[in-house]
Amino acid sequence: MHRIRLLLTFACVAAALAASCGPASRDHHDHGPIAGGSAQGLVTNTGRLLVEVDHVADRTPSAGALALLRQRLLDRGNWSAVDVVLDGKLPRLDRAEPWRLSDLLALEARHRSVAVGEGEQAIYVVYVEGQGEPELGHWPLGWAYGPNSIAVFVDQFEEAAALSHGDPEPWVLVHETGHLLGLVGLGAPQQTFHEDLTRMGHCAEAACVMRRAADARHTDFGPRCREDLRAIGGR
Ligand SMILES: [Zn+2]
Ligand SMILES: [Zn+2]
Repeated sequence: MHRIRLLLTFACVAAALAASCGPASRDHHDHGPIAGGSAQGLVTNTGRLLVEVDHVADRTPSAGALALLRQRLLDRGNWSAVDVVLDGKLPRLDRAEPWRLSDLLALEARHRSVAVGEGEQAIYVVYVEGQGEPELGHWPLGWAYGPNSIAVFVDQFEEAAALSHGDPEPWVLVHETGHLLGLVGLGAPQQTFHEDLTRMGHCAEAACVMRRAADARHTDFGPRCREDLRAIGGR
């Protein structure tokens, strides 16, 4: 396992898997077949966006990371408001098995609970204990597993901090949300080609949060990704 964790590659299988992310030493399969499938509907909506956050009980999400995510959404979408709802706490069960897509879908079915009113939309973010399956990428930190659903492997953050040039939490939230918004080429067609040819679904620009080797130094979308968001009705 330790050797696997040192692999210096990322991989996103854009067409075949849901979307996961990690710093430069990670394989990075972090978006599934339906991540980005609701991108246009998300960014063009003018109602309220609810970001429901469930988390393993002893790992409360960082207020700063959630505030950054909210600001990035407000910057790029047309929602009248973006409200983050810290919702349920999941018990820590000392889970031994890595999370599979089917596990995450079952967890969401049990715990996703915030009611969405007419004209509103919601994104579901769940901070889970343990780690993701290797099929999600070696040592994933996050995974955009549905059109509006993100898993965050929060137990992996401490070990990832050095490789990530700081706390991974803010950029993981923004990066995975970028996949939901259709980046790169997942629902937001590229206006200027900028996809990383070595890892589909990621950006080749140097200072963009959608890089395959994203890290804490760059937590915003770069010019080419912003251009793609504007082209589907975002900002
Ligand atoms: Zn990614
Ligand atoms: Zn970019």
